[in-house]
Amino acid sequence: MSRLLDSFCRYSRVDTMAVEGAQAYPSSAGQLDLGRMLAEELRQMGALEVEQTGEGIVFATIPASAGVVAPTIALIAHVDTSPETSGHGVKPVVHSQYDGNDILYPAVPGLVLSPSKDPELARLRGATIITSDGTTLLGADDKAGVAVIMEAARRLLETPALPRPRIRICFTCDEEIGRGTDHVDLGKLGAKVAYTLDGGGTGEIDAATFSADLATVLVRGVNIHPSIAKGRMVNAVRLAALFIDRLPRQFLSAETTEDDQGFLHPYRVEGGVEEVRVQILLRDFRTDALAEQARMLREIAGHLQLEFPGSRIEVNTRAQYRNMADGLAAEPRAVALAEAATRRAGVAPRVTRVRGGTDGSRFTEKGLPCPNLSCGEHNPHSPLEWTCLEEMDAACRVLVELAACWAAERD
Ligand SMILES: [Zn+2]
Repeated sequence: MSRLLDSFCRYSRVDTMAVEGAQAYPSSAGQLDLGRMLAEELRQMGALEVEQTGEGIVFATIPASAGVVAPTIALIAHVDTSPETSGHGVKPVVHSQYDGNDILYPAVPGLVLSPSKDPELARLRGATIITSDGTTLLGADDKAGVAVIMEAARRLLETPALPRPRIRICFTCDEEIGRGTDHVDLGKLGAKVAYTLDGGGTGEIDAATFSADLATVLVRGVNIHPSIAKGRMVNAVRLAALFIDRLPRQFLSAETTEDDQGFLHPYRVEGGVEEVRVQILLRDFRTDALAEQARMLREIAGHLQLEFPGSRIEVNTRAQYRNMADGLAAEPRAVALAEAATRRAGVAPRVTRVRGGTDGSRFTEKGLPCPNLSCGEHNPHSPLEWTCLEEMDAACRVLVELAACWAAERD
C-alpha cells in the first residue's frame, strides 16, 4: 500500500489547479506536467499505446490477458483540481493510524477537521488519513482516482494470471471547469463501457445523475432619465426582482429539496434598468420534467409582460447534461458488474444517484455508458479535503475484480 500512498502524494504535489475562463486547453500548464509524469510511469510499468495528446489527454492500454475475448473497458480520472480553493503548493500530510481525535493544521490556526462533524472520518479510527496542510485543498478530487487507476494498472500488469479484458486508461483535464469531456475522442478511447473514478468514500456506484438545462431569462425594460420617467420608464431591475420573487420557494428550490426532488435555481443576475439577464439552473432526475420547469418560467414571463406594457421578457433554455441512468439502461452490465466486483473485493456496494452531473453523464449521453465509482474522496474543493489510504486501496481491489468480471463477458 505504501506504493499507492507514495503515488498519491507525488501526484497531489503537482499544481494542476484549473483556471476558470482561461482560453487555453488545458487551462493550466501543471495539468500537462502531471500528464507527462503519468504517461512516463505508464510506459515504465509496461502499458501499451501510451500517448499524451496535444490537448493534454493521456491514453494508455493494458492488453487483455491471454485467451480473453471480452469487450474493452475504460477507466477515467481527471488530473485538474477545483479553482474554488487554492491548489498552489499542496503539501500532503499523512496521519498514520488515525487516533480518532480532531485533526489540527499548524499552518492555519483555528482550522479543524473534526470527526464529530464528519461521521465518515469518525468510522476510520486506525486508518491512514491524508489531509493538506490547511493552506490549500488536497486534490484527492481527483488525484485519488488517478492514483487508484495507476495502482490497479500496476497490479494487473505485474500479475498476468489475473484475468482481464483489454483496458483503456484515460486521464482528462479541466473537469472542474466543465470541460472534462471536450477533447476526449470516444472513437480513440474505443471502449464498450467506462468508469470514472471520482466518487466519495467507499463502495458507492453512482448510476444516476440529474438531467440539466440552463435557462437564461432576458428582461428588457425602457430606460429614460429618472427625472422625467413618470409613465415612461419600465425598469428591468424591478421586473427581474418580481420574476425571481414568483419562482417557487417552498418547493422546487435548491434550498428546500433533497433526494429525488428536482429544482429551479436562480444563480446569477446581471444588468441594469434597460436590460437584466437572470440565469436559472433547471434540474430533475426525470428528463421530461425539465420541459415543465421551462414552461413555468415562460408562464411567469408571460404574466409579467402583460402587467408591464413596454417590457419584453424572453426565456431561452439550453441542454447541459442528461441523467446517466437513461443511457445506462442500454448496458445493464455496467452497473451490475461494478456491484459484483465491489462485493468480490469485500466491500458492500451502494448504488447511488448524484444531485448534479459527472463527466460520466456526458460520456453516457454520447453513447459510452459510464458510472462513477468511489475512490476515497471526502470534502472536495475545500481546505478540509481528505482521503483515506485504505479506501483508495479498496478501490484498487474493486478495479482488479471489475477486470475479472468483465473478462468473462462477451460483446
Ligand atoms: Zn472530480
